[in-house]
Amino acid sequence: MIDLQQRRAMVMGVANDRSIAWGIAESLSRAGAEIALSYLPDERGRAQRRAEKLAESIGSKLVIGCDVTEDEQVESMFGQIRKQWESLDILVHSIAWAHVEDLRGGISKTPRDHFAAANDASVYSFIAVCRHASRLMEGRSGSMVTVTYLGSQRAMPSYNIMGVAKAGLESAVRYLAAELGPAGIRVNAVSPGPVETLASAAFPDFDRMLRASAERTPLRRNVTTDEVGDVVAFLCSDLARGITGQVVYVDAGYNIT
Ligand code: NAD
Repeated sequence: MIDLQQRRAMVMGVANDRSIAWGIAESLSRAGAEIALSYLPDERGRAQRRAEKLAESIGSKLVIGCDVTEDEQVESMFGQIRKQWESLDILVHSIAWAHVEDLRGGISKTPRDHFAAANDASVYSFIAVCRHASRLMEGRSGSMVTVTYLGSQRAMPSYNIMGVAKAGLESAVRYLAAELGPAGIRVNAVSPGPVETLASAAFPDFDRMLRASAERTPLRRNVTTDEVGDVVAFLCSDLARGITGQVVYVDAGYNIT
């Protein structure tokens, strides 16, 4: 039984109830953790309303809008966490972004500014939030987890710039784990197989990819956000106290085929 009672977790990247971040928030909450959620603010306030409704269902009272490409917003978010909680035990980063045309168009066509923007939102954002979170984890056994994809290791159809970004993200996990380990903070990534979410809708032929992967995985099915969430809960628990710097696949075994 995974026990996260008395732990406080910030889960970043909840867009709706299909988000991998939401599956993770539910799993952490089931294990007893107190949850704060962050979302990307939009002009009409829709993201905020969705996040607040979801937060309510797990008794979460801290819901913060934060565009991770804006330093002031990141600072302000951690300021609010410090004010409300004083400390933090768990940080989950489930955020990625790239220009859609670069996913479809091929890596050689990616303009410099698009490359920078994708890496800023998808890779640097993890480094920035880890820096802030580590200050709130002093003297605690903190755990940080991000979400990656196999396209970091293999040239997958239509993944392109996001594959390059995920390779950077996985490398950042290793460097952060090496740097923060002496302070008792563990840093890992989970690598789920394909899941139908808002972000996955950007990939052409995603439905076909979902069907193909379900046919090929050793378990002959795709994974759910619940299953991803449960692995994150394990990684954030004392049961995983000896694990850091790793990419843990939650893909029904697809990566071995
Ligand atoms: P999602 O659309 O539900 O989540 C992506 C989140 O990133 C959204 O909440 C979005 O608002 C947020 N985001 C984007 N730019 C942001 C910014 N500048 N500031 C703050 N937040 C920002 O989709 P998802 O599939 O749950 O994606 C979550 C993570 O899982 C991503 O890192 C994605 O690459 C990864 N992943 C997804 C799959 C899949 O098949 N869906 C598979 C493996 C890995």
